[in-house]
Amino acid sequence: PAGALALGFDFGTSAARCALVDAEGSLVCSPPPYPWGDRERQQTPAAWREALFALLESVPAAERRRISRIAVSGTSSSVVLYDAKSRRPSSRGCRMYDFNVNRQAAGTSGEEAMKLIHSVAPEGHTVRSPTSALAKVVAWHLEEPLSPEEQIAHQADFVAAQLCGAGPIVSDWHNALKLGYDVETLDYPSWMRSGALGEILESRLPRVVMPGGLAANICPELAARLGMPTDCQVVGGTTDSIAAFLAAGASTIGDAVTSLGSTLAIKLLSSNPVSDAARGVYSHRLGDLWLVGGASNAGCAVLREQGFTAEELARLSASIDPSAAPPHAHYYPLPSATVGERFPRADDSAVAVLQPVPEERALFLHSILYGLARIEADGYAALKELGASELRRVQTCGGGSDNPQWMALRERLLGVPTSRAARTDAALGAALLARGP
Ligand code: ADP
Repeated sequence: PAGALALGFDFGTSAARCALVDAEGSLVCSPPPYPWGDRERQQTPAAWREALFALLESVPAAERRRISRIAVSGTSSSVVLYDAKSRRPSSRGCRMYDFNVNRQAAGTSGEEAMKLIHSVAPEGHTVRSPTSALAKVVAWHLEEPLSPEEQIAHQADFVAAQLCGAGPIVSDWHNALKLGYDVETLDYPSWMRSGALGEILESRLPRVVMPGGLAANICPELAARLGMPTDCQVVGGTTDSIAAFLAAGASTIGDAVTSLGSTLAIKLLSSNPVSDAARGVYSHRLGDLWLVGGASNAGCAVLREQGFTAEELARLSASIDPSAAPPHAHYYPLPSATVGERFPRADDSAVAVLQPVPEERALFLHSILYGLARIEADGYAALKELGASELRRVQTCGGGSDNPQWMALRERLLGVPTSRAARTDAALGAALLARGP
């Protein structure tokens, strides 16, 4: 309808945020974020609920009246068990994205869960990671059998469901990937439905919809109380990193976003999926397209480790000639405590190569930035080799995107237009997802 707005929420690692866009996808408003404060608080479904309603109430009433669609993004593989009847979280609470069953589940339940999953999940499947949503659920069951009423939801699904009436909680392609959902066949695979795993998961797996596709209608009483249209729809959500990709405005085959944070990660929009378990490459389905990507263990963390301050990074970078060869082009900038690399090349014994150290700090920095740029370029080359679509342009986000000389150096190695992403706010990405194509 004319004047309709789409609302996106992002439940990220440090805060919950929301953003409203109009039918053209332009930002209408983004209320102040709701910070989690300490880490403990972030981990409770009760805090998510509080954040959701605090953010909704901070949207001006005039805009609230025009909201027609809502989507939520959450941290990937954060899971919660809830009671099918009351739809409240079960007493087990939730397990967040970085919970590792091998280290954090009680007793031997983590190792047992991994053993069970490894005996049935195909080699290299994303659920074989000790931080996968499936690993967390199976370990819960092995600690104490799940009750018949306990159902599985992800953070994003659970939050979105707080806006809907009764009924089972619905998930989406992106959040359900690390639970084991098969986005090519659009169903759970047979190995999840049979044997010991099937018995544990039977009738607990969420129904899965397309991100941006209709999930449920808003609860009419809630709509009336908050002054929202009663026909407002809650649509399938996504994960925070995909929402950030969407915020950058990447929408055409060959569009890519490189994240230059503590670690270096790349994502490319491809016409076809590719995967390489050994290197942690997998594909998320995005409408008719695929978002393929990989993440290196190297990244800007090494700059911090080598003592480069923000001021020094800006000053020294300004003296770098992006077209000149660095003195040490062979650097491999892994953090000093890291052993092993995943992507672009899998090597369990890889360690940092940052020798020799030039006397001049600017030359040291140039060599490190060059080493990271080569990892990025090799990463895109690896995706192409695996059969992904041709790279067309690269947008950049993260702390390292604020560096014009590095940008020029990277553009030279990548061979395609390379720029800083104008927006990377995941709440905006969720709002754009809610708006639809
Ligand atoms: P995180 O992944 O921890 O969220 P950020 O996206 O906040 O990381 O990026 C922080 C990193 O960006 C730091 O390691 C810092 O060294 C790096 N960084 C900050 N400014 C610059 C710059 N001008 N050039 C290159 N790297 C930078």
